[in-house]
Amino acid sequence: MAKQPMLKFVDIGRNMPAKRDADARRADYHEIYAEFAAAKAAEQASRCSQCGVPYCQTHCPLHNNIPDWLNLTSTGRLEEAYELSQATNTFPEICGRICPQDRLCEGNCVIEQSGHGTVTIGAVEKYITDTAWENGWVKPAAPRRERPESVGIIGAGPGGLAAADTLRQMGFQVVVYDRYDRAGGLLTYGIPGFKLEKDVVMRRVKLLEAGGVTFRMNTEIGRDISFDALRDAHDAVLIATGVYKSRDLGGPGAGLGGIVAALDYLTASNRLNFGDEVAEIADGSLSAEGKNVVVIGGGDTAMDCVRTAVRQGAKSVKCLYRRDRANMPGSVRETQNAEEEGVEFVWLAAPKGFVGEGRVSGVRVAKMRLGAPDASGRRAPEEIEDADYTEPADLVIKALGFEPEALPELWESPDLGVTRWGTVKADFHSHATNLPGVYAAGDIVRGASLVVWAIRDGRDAAEAIAKYIAAKTAVAAE
Ligand SMILES: Cc1cc2nc3c(=O)[nH]c(=O)nc-3n(C[C@H](O)[C@H](O)[C@H](O)COP(=O)(O)OP(=O)(O)OC[C@H]3O[C@@H](n4cnc5c(N)ncnc54)[C@H](O)[C@@H]3O)c2cc1C
Ligand code: SF4
Repeated sequence: MAKQPMLKFVDIGRNMPAKRDADARRADYHEIYAEFAAAKAAEQASRCSQCGVPYCQTHCPLHNNIPDWLNLTSTGRLEEAYELSQATNTFPEICGRICPQDRLCEGNCVIEQSGHGTVTIGAVEKYITDTAWENGWVKPAAPRRERPESVGIIGAGPGGLAAADTLRQMGFQVVVYDRYDRAGGLLTYGIPGFKLEKDVVMRRVKLLEAGGVTFRMNTEIGRDISFDALRDAHDAVLIATGVYKSRDLGGPGAGLGGIVAALDYLTASNRLNFGDEVAEIADGSLSAEGKNVVVIGGGDTAMDCVRTAVRQGAKSVKCLYRRDRANMPGSVRETQNAEEEGVEFVWLAAPKGFVGEGRVSGVRVAKMRLGAPDASGRRAPEEIEDADYTEPADLVIKALGFEPEALPELWESPDLGVTRWGTVKADFHSHATNLPGVYAAGDIVRGASLVVWAIRDGRDAAEAIAKYIAAKTAVAAE
């Protein structure tokens, strides 16, 4: 069992400055950082009161056994803490980094509720699993026996990957198909690297490959392989395609250059972080450098765009939102982070159109006030007459949310049941669709949601698929 490292003084000044080489200084830095992180994780973990009413656990979509792994961390039993944490979560270090903990586990921590500040559960979860990776405790799947049946998974986002992992551990032959060149879905091309480092995602993909999962990248179902052919090729299929149709803005000037979709902007930035050559960044069309940037929207995607624009060296970054701060859908923490980084929020401001000659030079903005609550109970924004003004902008990023693509039409599978919003209809518990042997998980069922819910769905769907295949095999053997 690994022991919690003790804090120890490392004298980086002694041999400084010039003579020591950069590698040694970097090693010292990492040693100090690692020891600081260990001490901090233990200190935070020991703040858990073991209250006996673990609201943190019930409000975690994976029902992670948080009190027990905090207890193990506080006493230095990190390998056991890791074993416990990974038993319920396929990607604990990813959730530790990007779950909106203020709305989930940490927001419901009893210590937080009593006004003493939450135990930083996400940071401890990240620390435990990062330590497990460093110590070689994270191992590829090693099924006790290989099974002949195969499962085809459409989509290599967190939902598809969580299902792939669970099914592979059971010994099924798993093939993941994705239209992108890299696996990870929005973990790879949506969420920016400053929130989720890309090597953290890629090492998970490599682990799945090492455990025997096959990836067919650059393969779009409905274009390169038909949905029916995929169903014929596998004993069961999981649809985990996410939601990718961006909500758009109309109005005068909507077609001007320099008005771009959030996901195009974030994908280009993420590709650059991978070291890819990105023509749209080189020619400036998807770069914020030196520009007055206006982001339209108030959700987490908008926050990712404004914070990316700051990092790209924008001249100014403003975020327009038609309601006020209290009614913003994005995480409070993310909004605070953006403000601290210099982003200006323009509340109660709705775009009416765009001005410019060929390229955008400004957004026509209607000033709003909040009126009576609408059907959802939220106060509806109303326009204030004769108060319009122009907000200068050289780059406008539309971050208004996402909807599902029309899968039955795209896949020439009119029988696939969808809701009136276009999400795939799937049983709440088993994730089975109306088509035999076809399951669905993640955003394509829930609508735009969270990584942790996609993981939960992927794991649950995998369990249901295993039962379905076992039943089918038993019938065939009769
Ligand atoms: C900018 C942004 C930031 C976000 N930040 C956070 C955050 O901080 N925390 C959080 O919890 N959640 C966040 N989310 C939400 C989260 O990323 C999603 O809820 C989650 O990724 C959904 O997982 P999924 O597996 O269902 O789909 P996705 O991650 O969308 O993966 C779907 C995959 O399916 C592939 N695919 C689609 N159609 C086909 C096809 N026909 N053939 C082959 N492949 C196909 C896609 O290429 C993609 O790789 C964010 C979302 C966005 C857009
Ligand atoms: S998975 Fe997310 S909600 Fe659950 S304990 Fe981890 S950070 Fe909290």
